[in-house]
Amino acid sequence: MRLDLTGDLVTLFRQIVDVESVSGNERELADLVEAALREQPHLDVVRDGDTVIARTNLGRDQRVVVAGHLDTVPVAANLPSRLVDDVVHGRGTADMKGGVAVALACAAALTSPNRDLTWVFYDHEEVAAADNSLTRIAREHPEWLEGDFAVLMEPTSAGVEGGCQGTLRFTVTTRGRAAHSARSWLGHNAIHDAAGPLALLQACEPREVEVDGLTYREGMNAVGIAGGIATNVIPDTCVLTVNFRFAPDRDEADAVAHCRQLFAGYDLEVVDFAPAARPGLDRPIAQEFLAAVGGEPRPKFGWTDVARFGALGVPAVNFGPADPGRAHADDECCPVADLYTCRDALLRWLA
Ligand SMILES: [Zn+2]
Repeated sequence: MRLDLTGDLVTLFRQIVDVESVSGNERELADLVEAALREQPHLDVVRDGDTVIARTNLGRDQRVVVAGHLDTVPVAANLPSRLVDDVVHGRGTADMKGGVAVALACAAALTSPNRDLTWVFYDHEEVAAADNSLTRIAREHPEWLEGDFAVLMEPTSAGVEGGCQGTLRFTVTTRGRAAHSARSWLGHNAIHDAAGPLALLQACEPREVEVDGLTYREGMNAVGIAGGIATNVIPDTCVLTVNFRFAPDRDEADAVAHCRQLFAGYDLEVVDFAPAARPGLDRPIAQEFLAAVGGEPRPKFGWTDVARFGALGVPAVNFGPADPGRAHADDECCPVADLYTCRDALLRWLA
């Protein structure tokens, strides 16, 4: 089989969907993508693991990076794809093989673009950040991801979602003294003490803040609680896990300081952190993108790989076919119209 990048877009999309590529099993699809891109004389292609990067080198003033991941979450009896009433159903149709199909079609069509282009097709996105191949590429070959603007083709129903919120997970631990629950006055109940931090969370008003013209809404939420070793023992430890989703005007130090201030006096330990990304929509190149795409940009509330580009100093937006609410669902699907909307917008902007 080969992928025909210049033929029917829906056929290309369904071909890509039907090559199962659950994280860790991207090789076959990466081989097909690499082979199809190598047929394009205007592109320089490099391969690193199962990541394929194709670039134009026309000496243009600006460079745009368009990226999409090849992997999907595990199949749930939803392959091969089905086309019903102009909607394609199947694993990966929403997240995010529609974006991959559009990017491949545009990579072939834009033989003489108005800006230099870098097309990134990468592996291991739907797994731990440490395994994400963009982590490795950013570390070992940051120059491959350089650009003035990046478009990540994650599903947005073909609208523009700018930047992304950051995420910080931490624990708040209360400590007491274990005792037999029949003589509880000999101990001290650590779970009861968790009422303090829980009350702080309940009273916490999420901040709304405007960054580069988009309004982000933060969230501070308990996402787990653990304590107690047996039903007849006064618990001596209680661990509350909290997730802080924060707006892109905060960096790591600021996000951590905010949490330490809120839980002052408590034993707080940071578990993991992923940075936010500014939408960068105030830049001229972003304005030109918005003009070509049309519609009102929205803030991105989830975390996406746009943050990796943000960390490299490249402003980035999410823009891709399919409803993000369908991502990872058993009834994942993508309207055919979204594919054409995204393709035509990229061609208008970059041709
Ligand atoms: Zn995705």
